[in-house]
Amino acid sequence: MSDPTTTPQTTPPEAPSALADGEAPAPDLSEVAFTDIITELLRRLGEDPDREGLRRTPARMEEALRFLTRGYRMDPEATIGDALFQERHHNMVIVKDIEMYSLCEHHMLPFIGKVHLAYIPNGHILGLSKVARLVEVFARRLQVQERMTEEIAQSFWDVVQPQGVGVVVEAHHLCMMMRGVEKQNSSTITSAVRGSFLEDARTREEFLRLCTSEHRPLR
Ligand SMILES: [Zn+2]
Repeated sequence: MSDPTTTPQTTPPEAPSALADGEAPAPDLSEVAFTDIITELLRRLGEDPDREGLRRTPARMEEALRFLTRGYRMDPEATIGDALFQERHHNMVIVKDIEMYSLCEHHMLPFIGKVHLAYIPNGHILGLSKVARLVEVFARRLQVQERMTEEIAQSFWDVVQPQGVGVVVEAHHLCMMMRGVEKQNSSTITSAVRGSFLEDARTREEFLRLCTSEHRPLR
């Protein structure tokens, strides 16, 4: 169903191999255990990796990092493809406030926030919980918010094949907040649209208004 040219990569990008003149090649650490690398990291930060509180930190950190990057090992079609239901509904479907936790690829620090996704079905609707699963596929990687927003929209477009889809992401970036680069309460908003959301200004405006509205409907 999905176009192979737009299928998101499921493995981390390869590091560029070209070295600048006079630059020594990086030592080959491929045989070194993950936990040993983290132990050395702790040492370089000025810590004593043998002290009580840190003794299991390398193992915990490895486990945490593997969990936080598990999106590389998930496939969008396998994740949501079996939850498509035939439906002749042609009105906009909105899934709001999906929790999102990702890591910025520049600092490997968290950026966290909410994803809102809306679409106009074209014969198929997707089980609601699967929208959250699709967000996981792309959030659980090293990311930049703009690319993640595009990837969620594109893979929904490829797999669900709706008349149109729009995605809005509102996030706080800890690399900005903790390093004092940004005011604590500012958030970054990104959006991506496909199909009728791109072509029809009224559809797009309705979507943006519903997604960014401060007035949450009563439960
Ligand atoms: Zn960052």
